[in-house]
Amino acid sequence: MFIDFHTHTFPDNLAPSAISKLAATADTRPHTNGTSKALTEATVKNNLDYSVVLPIATKPTQTNAINERAVWQNRLSSSTHLISLGTIHPDNEDYSYILKGLRESGIRGIKIHPVYQKTFIDDERFVNIIACAESLDMFTVTHGGYDIGFPGVDLVSPQHIFNLMKKIHPKRLVLAHMGAWGCWDEVESLLLEDDFIRENVYMDTAFSLHPEDDSGIGGNKIFLGTEQFLRIVKKIGADRVLFGTDSPWSDQADTVNVIKKTGLSPAELDLILGNNAARLLGL
Ligand SMILES: [Zn+2]
Repeated sequence: MFIDFHTHTFPDNLAPSAISKLAATADTRPHTNGTSKALTEATVKNNLDYSVVLPIATKPTQTNAINERAVWQNRLSSSTHLISLGTIHPDNEDYSYILKGLRESGIRGIKIHPVYQKTFIDDERFVNIIACAESLDMFTVTHGGYDIGFPGVDLVSPQHIFNLMKKIHPKRLVLAHMGAWGCWDEVESLLLEDDFIRENVYMDTAFSLHPEDDSGIGGNKIFLGTEQFLRIVKKIGADRVLFGTDSPWSDQADTVNVIKKTGLSPAELDLILGNNAARLLGL
């Protein structure tokens, strides 16, 4: 099974403006037009079974509408090849009610983005949300590290991830962007030096490997070099790494190819390119 565990879509009427705004602030190029239809087409063209859509509520009032859309979208997964997670905002005081509703609607995980949601990952509100998700046997995907559109904002730096992990010991937490985008030395020196974190955390590969340049730096952006990528994979184990692209911000075929070229074994590639995601999603 092949699954892209980290993608984004926008409602058709908002996609053109959202994509051009995000592309400009992040100085990056979209690889689809950002609609669900375009992601379905890319998923099929690239021979993937599913793309997992990670929606983000940037205001607490958006949560219910986004989650209703996610539940509705998931009824069509067998034809669209898209599976949406749920979203939650740290200011949703009725978070446990929302999470239970998602779980009962068949949604297996939630996405949070401390940078877009302007809240530290180790803030009590996120701690409570992640603990609640764990208690419902749901996983949480969080953005990790810096965000390309918000230079220097450290709301989800390795130190804050470390603090969170010490407070609640989650076993189903996925750190996007190989732990923390742009902070990979600290991922190794702080997070992966801790036995519990190293043995329990999941990471996705989204926007971390440059499609052509494996030296660790590409253009004006920071990318993870192949050597360090492999070191991190070996430390946490290939059974806890998830192929993700951040589509539309990376091309799915390019990302599959760059992961295949890193020198991982066929068994490790099977896990990373889809089997780990299938397990988390209960497929
Ligand atoms: Zn993303």
